[in-house]
Amino acid sequence: MVSVLKDIWTGLTDIIYPRVCPACDEVLGLEDRDICFTCRHTLPETDYHTFPGNPVAVHFWGKVPLTAATALYHFSKDGKVQHMLHHLKYKHRKDIGLLLGNFLAKTLKDHPVFSTCDLIVPVPLHPKKQLQRGYNQSAVIAEGIAEKTGIPVGKDILIRNTYTATQTRKGRLERWQNVDGKFILTKPKAIAEKHILLIDDVVTTGATLEACAKVLLSQPGTKVAVAAVAHAEM
Ligand SMILES: [Zn+2]
Repeated sequence: MVSVLKDIWTGLTDIIYPRVCPACDEVLGLEDRDICFTCRHTLPETDYHTFPGNPVAVHFWGKVPLTAATALYHFSKDGKVQHMLHHLKYKHRKDIGLLLGNFLAKTLKDHPVFSTCDLIVPVPLHPKKQLQRGYNQSAVIAEGIAEKTGIPVGKDILIRNTYTATQTRKGRLERWQNVDGKFILTKPKAIAEKHILLIDDVVTTGATLEACAKVLLSQPGTKVAVAAVAHAEM
């Protein structure tokens, strides 16, 4: 009964406010829950999670030891994935971030390595950008993964180093410690002995993820796996 009423309600609201597919902007059918049938079957999945020596993992070889690395989709300019990420970042569409996180979670949930992660850490956004945007898109994707996997998100554990803004308040020694890194840990004890799932929206060179992973791996017993929504090949 409840689901019948829900269907009627969705049907009515679809007439008044047609829902559109976040990937192609076509009007969604009543049977489409989130993206349209065509996009559901044509989004450019990489299947990178199925082979450890994939092009994302290779970015980190010889630089930082990761337990696994993957990206869900291929990123191409003006493609459907770019369209969705653009809406997430610039059009206040947090719902798309949650959806992408849900999709990414499907490939990680039963994976022999990713499924053993016990804490999700999103790549932090610069505070200025976060203030403009109202949220960190990687943190929204992380929430979407948490929804489907039950792995908790470690919020504000890893932050951008705003050294230049706060240096006047710091002692000389502390200043030295902060100069060499873009990222710092606020709660180092919270990640000790943890297998961390580090999340970003797009991986290009892997430099940002590498810097974040190095900071996380500075704590005793931590392991890091990396997953992104998309991989932009250069
Ligand atoms: Zn579509």
